[in-house]
Amino acid sequence: MRMARVGVLVDQEAKRRCHRYGINVFESYVGEVLGHAGIPFTWLKTVEEAAGSGVDILIAAVVGDGRETAEAMLAFAERGGTVISYAGLNCMANALGCKEQPHVAVGYAQPERPPAAAPLRCVRSIPWKAGNGAASFAVQQSGQLRKDRPDGDPAGPLLMQFRVGRGRIDRWSVNIPLTIVTFQQGTGPVLGDGVPADDGTGDVDEGILKADDRVALDWALDRARTETGAPYFAYPYADWWREQLIGHLLATATSLGLTLPFLGYWPDGVTCVATISHDSDLNIDESAETTLNTLAECGIRSTWCMLEPGYSPPIYDKIKKAGHELAFHYNALDAQGGRWDEGEFRRQYDWLKAAAGVAGVTSNKNHYTRFEGWGELFAWCERHGVQADQTRGPSKRGNVGFLFGTCHPYFPIAWFDEQNRIYDVLEIGFLTQDLDLPQWSDTSVIVPFLERVRQVEGVAHFLFHQVHIHRNPNVNRAIRQVVEEARRRGFAFWTSAEINDWERARRRVVITGVDEGGAVRAQGTDAADVVVWIPLPEHRSQDGAERKFGVPCRKVVLNAEKRGVELEGSR
Ligand SMILES: [Zn+2]
Repeated sequence: MRMARVGVLVDQEAKRRCHRYGINVFESYVGEVLGHAGIPFTWLKTVEEAAGSGVDILIAAVVGDGRETAEAMLAFAERGGTVISYAGLNCMANALGCKEQPHVAVGYAQPERPPAAAPLRCVRSIPWKAGNGAASFAVQQSGQLRKDRPDGDPAGPLLMQFRVGRGRIDRWSVNIPLTIVTFQQGTGPVLGDGVPADDGTGDVDEGILKADDRVALDWALDRARTETGAPYFAYPYADWWREQLIGHLLATATSLGLTLPFLGYWPDGVTCVATISHDSDLNIDESAETTLNTLAECGIRSTWCMLEPGYSPPIYDKIKKAGHELAFHYNALDAQGGRWDEGEFRRQYDWLKAAAGVAGVTSNKNHYTRFEGWGELFAWCERHGVQADQTRGPSKRGNVGFLFGTCHPYFPIAWFDEQNRIYDVLEIGFLTQDLDLPQWSDTSVIVPFLERVRQVEGVAHFLFHQVHIHRNPNVNRAIRQVVEEARRRGFAFWTSAEINDWERARRRVVITGVDEGGAVRAQGTDAADVVVWIPLPEHRSQDGAERKFGVPCRKVVLNAEKRGVELEGSR
């Protein structure tokens, strides 16, 4: 089966025009979604380039709204190509026999193939309605979008598929890339406090600017409660939207008689990953000793985020010797003399390198989840060689869980002032801090978190402070319970640096072809045990295929012996 050629069109003139007026072009984030899935694609910069590119599937991510665009998209489809749009192409509504409907600021979508019982929250959707009298193309509609609430008024179909000539135009009413960005990175730059929860479990309005001050989820609509009544954000909406986007793309490829290989999230044999990080906060040596012993008893290695002035020198040696990861805990908490400032970030980082006797570290987490603005933290990490950040997590017992809609590692996108570029920093957010402390949630969240993470194949990241592991028997029991429950479910425990290294290594793999015998050609890998999934047409789904993103796939493991650049897969 030939591999589908996928192009992502970001019209540079249309993009510049948005930036000139201070409008973000988060639609280009579809490239990061495909990158994380390991789906090969080509960036296209103009409509003309797209027309001559020879791609089979054209994702019209950012395009102008003129007649040239409409004509080019129709011509592309007429020749047999498939155009995909996420709430765009509004200049074509009339031509496709539809009417643009009022925009839906917040909606809930019920896809044809729902990932779970819960509908998917989305933002800034633009539904269309079929039948403006001039319908000249056959249209198939699926799924449904509702306004404001999961049970709100219907706002239109979720997906419309227009048959155009020998090809198709598929238009989602949901701006999936923008929705993913909004959940992961927030509704906007953090310039002030967020809105607190009505029930007193999420007082984010405490006067400290943090990541969770711009959460795009709803306290009432997007939380569930455990059997003990502990509230938590229950739905990894961003991850589910990734699944919708990828599943649709793969199904499109197979419907064209083509295939579109993609990469497994983890190496062969690893189904899901858990990670534990600590923040040294009070820097009590005894708490480090207790934590070292606890981790040794659990048989896991973890990530130690160090806050100035840190532990005594011998402790660092013990942490290193036990194979744990030393990391940075940047303090920008004003009440403790910290500042939100790159110079201060650098000064503290220099302190860490000297104190711990290391040339640099891979990971950072900000003390108290302090966060301001949009992307400056990522830019600082980039400039000072910190490859991974884990600041984006909850600061209150009532906003634990999937408050940023994801448990996947991802590369964040910049605001328009940096041209919406992708930062070279891997964000690995966490689900909760400590457990069974009065100010934090209880251990009843452990199993729901793990089950959900396993379902979407993400990272179950739990944060435990050494001082609580040391002083509080409940917390000491809780970390052991996390390890036990995760092990029981087949999670592998990795450090943040290991997750970072793996994600970067797998992203260097480029699948270049699949031959008739099923062997995979790929380039640029130094990672072992990379899993490649090859989507199959439905009628060939019986011979040992496994369903991924709703599509039957055959599995190939690449590079089991690290054989170099040009690799051959085997069954
Ligand atoms: Zn801290």
